[in-house]
Amino acid sequence: MTGRNGANFSPKIRSTLAERVGYLCSNPHCRIPTIGPSDHTSETAKRIGRAAHIHAAAKGGPRYSPQQTPEERRSAANGIFLCGNCAGMIDQNNGMEYPAEMLLDWKKIAEEEQKEAFISGNPIFSSIWRQKIHYLNYINIPRLELECLRNGYKIKNIPKITGWLYHMGQQTGIITASFQGILTRIDIASIDIEKIRYPDDNKYKDNLIGAIISFNENFRTKNGVHPPVLRGAPPTLTGDIEKDPHIYYENSFLKLIMPYDPRWITTSTAFGDFRPSSGQQKMTGLAVIKNVAGSNIIASPIVLGFPSNPLMEAFYGRTNNVRTISISEDDI
Ligand SMILES: [Zn+2]
Repeated sequence: MTGRNGANFSPKIRSTLAERVGYLCSNPHCRIPTIGPSDHTSETAKRIGRAAHIHAAAKGGPRYSPQQTPEERRSAANGIFLCGNCAGMIDQNNGMEYPAEMLLDWKKIAEEEQKEAFISGNPIFSSIWRQKIHYLNYINIPRLELECLRNGYKIKNIPKITGWLYHMGQQTGIITASFQGILTRIDIASIDIEKIRYPDDNKYKDNLIGAIISFNENFRTKNGVHPPVLRGAPPTLTGDIEKDPHIYYENSFLKLIMPYDPRWITTSTAFGDFRPSSGQQKMTGLAVIKNVAGSNIIASPIVLGFPSNPLMEAFYGRTNNVRTISISEDDI
């Protein structure tokens, strides 16, 4: 291309930027693969990645820096590899919402993750969890407070909870709303359950125990309890999975078993989610891995809820993550 004062990236720099992040989009909220086989022929690949300029190639463009020389503008240091959708997104409103510092941060994190994955031979582990939860049905309050603190959020006026969350009436609603609001704003580093392959592999095992996992799956439920009528002390977990209330999910690599403490269930309706008539319940959330035994992963839920979906968002709010695929000349 011409007309940008020779500030476009060379093909070599474009592929270097892609290779340094393993052809995954560098946006921490996206991270999708940008390359794959063509649907039509075994001779070609499909590519939706782009090497985007951090500071614009041309005057007046997004984040343009008059201080840069043309060489600097077309150098790898001024590029970030993104999927077509994110590349378009960062340049909207002339890049106002995506300052250069933010993009440099994304790039740094994506390259570090790729480096770690490359050296260790493990898949990229830390993904960012920012699932929009439409409705929270379980909040382990002390644990979620801790995660919020780690992310720089101190939640004010959380009442002391001694019994069932369900019995706190109006206060439960306030607590739920506070956490729900915060969960849409903070990033919690987690491993997506779909990325875990061989949990018992010793190479992984140490990384897994204590790690936070995220999920959005159909769970089966067992030993669900009814909403307590009395304000008595909540039941204590026995540690025996045959007796304790738990939810579980299975794929071809693992079984995720999550015993939960019913005192953290938010409402009487939510108790029903843990005893669904269909036998299965879609849940999204976060949990801490307590143990790995064979292909079984035992985890303790931090927060559970229903995922937001386009229909709910149409009613209750917008999503900022609509994905479209764009292909342009800058495609790699
Ligand atoms: Zn992306």
